[in-house]
Amino acid sequence: MIAMDLRTGVEQLGDMIAAAATIVPFTGAGISTECGIPDFRSPGGLWTRNRPIPYDEFVASQDARDESWRRRLAMEPVFAAAKPGRGHRALAALYKVGKIPAVITQNIDNLHQDSGFAADHVVELHGNTTYARCIGCDRSYDLVWAKKQFDESGVAPSCLECDQPVKTATISFGQSMPEGAMRQATELAQHCDLFLAIGSSLVVWPAAGFPVMARNCGAKLVIINNEPTEQDDIADLVIRHDIGETLGPFVGN
Ligand code: NAD
Repeated sequence: MIAMDLRTGVEQLGDMIAAAATIVPFTGAGISTECGIPDFRSPGGLWTRNRPIPYDEFVASQDARDESWRRRLAMEPVFAAAKPGRGHRALAALYKVGKIPAVITQNIDNLHQDSGFAADHVVELHGNTTYARCIGCDRSYDLVWAKKQFDESGVAPSCLECDQPVKTATISFGQSMPEGAMRQATELAQHCDLFLAIGSSLVVWPAAGFPVMARNCGAKLVIINNEPTEQDDIADLVIRHDIGETLGPFVGN
């Protein structure tokens, strides 16, 4: 059912939140647009500007690695300046009172952790871009180090231990999904009574399977997104409005 207007949607959502014992949010890039981080698919989104670099290309080509790091470092002022928005803060408030056990996110921006979620309670399906890892030995690196290497050598950084490429700790297209996060997300989706899909176009699989899974396991499904998604017809409530406006009333003090 699509909410008639924003006010009705917020009221209906409020009732569903009050009635639920366990709420699991599932977030996408749309929750972070008000924080200044562009999403992928909106006009002006990252995809309209840059073709994503698949994992095998990153591994095989120095040029691809250089381009990937050039893009990431160019975005650093945006990621570094971003602060949690109203959506993040509303979810953090519900986490604090024990309604939300953990958040499943496709986002890589660390804003759920910044809003007050313990790192263990942020299930990152697509990794995290605020640090980097060696693709060979998994050693982690901070971005200050990566930037220094890149600036000094003019090429993408390599591991100090094993000389393999260093990549942001994100999951690229063609890279296998993180098993632990997939397991945790499955567990969460199967054991909640309210599932909130927030700011995702729901076209990136397997992540987009979690709202369906939660619905099939008996949870009520709410979709908050300013444009239609392919799963609107299975949702109990669709709020087709701005996320900050919709979740702002739940931020509390
Ligand atoms: P997407 O770009 O495919 O979809 C975002 C959706 O949010 C769109 O449908 C858009 O209309 C909607 N939206 C944007 N701003 C909104 C707002 N203020 N209110 C309501 N709706 C809004 O993003 P996705 O589904 O998360 O998939 C893209 C992939 O890109 C993700 O897997 C993620 O890894 C990556 N990504 C992450 C970030 C981030 O971490 N912030 C940013 C860009 C891309």
